[in-house]
Amino acid sequence: MTVGGDDYRSQGARRRLVQELKTKGIGDAAVLEAVGRVPRHLFFEDTALRSHAYEDKAFPIGCGQTISQPYTVAFQTQLLELRRGHRVLEVGTGSGYQTAVLAAMGAKVWSIERHRPLYLATRGRLEAMGHKAALYHGDGFLGLPAYAPYDRVLVTCGAPFVPDALVEQLRPGGILVIPVGEGAVQRMVRIRREVDGALVREEHGDFRFVPMLAHRQ
Ligand code: SAH
Repeated sequence: MTVGGDDYRSQGARRRLVQELKTKGIGDAAVLEAVGRVPRHLFFEDTALRSHAYEDKAFPIGCGQTISQPYTVAFQTQLLELRRGHRVLEVGTGSGYQTAVLAAMGAKVWSIERHRPLYLATRGRLEAMGHKAALYHGDGFLGLPAYAPYDRVLVTCGAPFVPDALVEQLRPGGILVIPVGEGAVQRMVRIRREVDGALVREEHGDFRFVPMLAHRQ
C-alpha cells in the first residue's frame, strides 16, 4: 500500500484513534495495528471532511451511504478472528475502508457493493493504493458463489435477516458476522459454522448501520 497523501499529522491522529479504540475495549492487537496503518482520511470522497477522519464517527460517502465508525469496523473485524491468508467475503464495500483493513491484516478479500457509483469510485481508490481486493457490483443477498467457500463473511449493512446464501458460502469452521434487524438498530450476530455443519449463533450488542437493500442500483 502506498502512503501517498499520508502525513505526520494523520499518523499522529491514527495513533490517538488506536488508543481510543483500546479504551473502548478493542483488544485484538492485529486489528489495532491495521487501524493504525490504514489512512482512513484517503477513503473520504468529500475532502472537506478529511480533517475529521480520525474521529470515532461515521461520515457520508455519497449515495446516501456512510463510512462506518472506526469502533464498529474494529469490533466487527475482531469478531471475525481473522488470520493471514483467510478468504473473506465482504458485503457492502462502501468507501473500501473496511476492505483495506481486512487486506492490511493479510486477508484475501472479495467485496460486493450494490451502488454502482460507489463501486466504481472505490475500485479506483483501492487500485491506486495498491490493494488487490476483488470488487464486484452486485447484490450481497446472493453472496458471491463463484469464489466460495469463504473462511469469513462480513456484512457491513443492516440486514433484515441472515441470507441463506451467505451461510451456505461459509466453509466448515468459518465465521459470518452480520448486523441483523429491520429497524434503526441492529443486533451484531456472529454465526460459526461447525465442522459437522451445525450453526452456532451469538449476539454481540446493538449497532446502527445503513440498511442492506436488495436490487443493485
Ligand atoms: N464498509 C463500508 C460500509 C459502507 S455502508 C465502509 O466502511 O465504507 C454499507 C454499504 O453497504 C453501503 O455502501 C451500501 O450501498 C451497501 N449495501 C447495501 N445493501 C447492499 C447489498 N444488498 N449488497 C451489497 N452492498 C449493499
